[in-house]
Amino acid sequence: MIIAGNWKMNPDHQAAAALLDALSAYTPDPNSTCKIVCFPPACYFSMANQALASSAVSWGAQNCHQEASGAFTGEISSQMIKEQGGSWVILGHSERRQYFAETDALVSQKIVAALQSGLKPILCVGEPEEVRNNGHQDSFTQSQLEKSLDLVAQMTPDAQKTALAQLVIAYEPVWAIGTGKVASLQDIEAMHQGLLQKMDALFGAHLPEAGVPILYGGSVNDTNAADILGLKPVSGALVGGASLKLDAFLSICRIAEEE
Ligand code: PEP
Repeated sequence: MIIAGNWKMNPDHQAAAALLDALSAYTPDPNSTCKIVCFPPACYFSMANQALASSAVSWGAQNCHQEASGAFTGEISSQMIKEQGGSWVILGHSERRQYFAETDALVSQKIVAALQSGLKPILCVGEPEEVRNNGHQDSFTQSQLEKSLDLVAQMTPDAQKTALAQLVIAYEPVWAIGTGKVASLQDIEAMHQGLLQKMDALFGAHLPEAGVPILYGGSVNDTNAADILGLKPVSGALVGGASLKLDAFLSICRIAEEE
């Protein structure tokens, strides 16, 4: 299980320090292999690294640029995240796709950059509401997955194996993000199964033995987490709003540890 907390452009400095302080004290169940990761805004990287250095919780970035360095005002590279002590990066989040015009091709480049820097990418895919209303959610989301992994598909077999061993996917229906509307358990299960089959069709024998983990994201909270995380093809959750509420986030982590 992986529980990832996406803080987005939240919280303020004081609240971030309080969250990090509490996360640094998190004591995982010794029998659990659950990974807990928080994704603070870049201005808190150094604080996160200090607070979490000797804790069970890791941290990552919410985005990175596809180039290693250069004249890209306002951007940060995967290498910079790594140098600051981060080990993960969220890529292709629907807010990046929607508000910053990120395409699958760009996300594909970012995935390669992240992997080259030694970061674990969480690739987000998911359909907008109108696509689901038209019944095209499977083809839409699977096409996003395929195109966002286009450059991984072009790697040599050995490089592809290494890349896929680091990759995590998050299925996040756009209409469920930050809305309080959660996809039904049936829909989550069906979508995750479809994505697993697509990964099999795309990468077959190059996939890690346990497969690539697929997280669900979209209004996950401490009330619905047990049912969602209990679904067989769900390997964890990408949590937005509830990751800022310490008690709720820690409850979700404890639920995940039991799965
Ligand atoms: C997200 O930001 O990826 C997300 C799933 O947000 P929320 O949990 O608030 O829906």
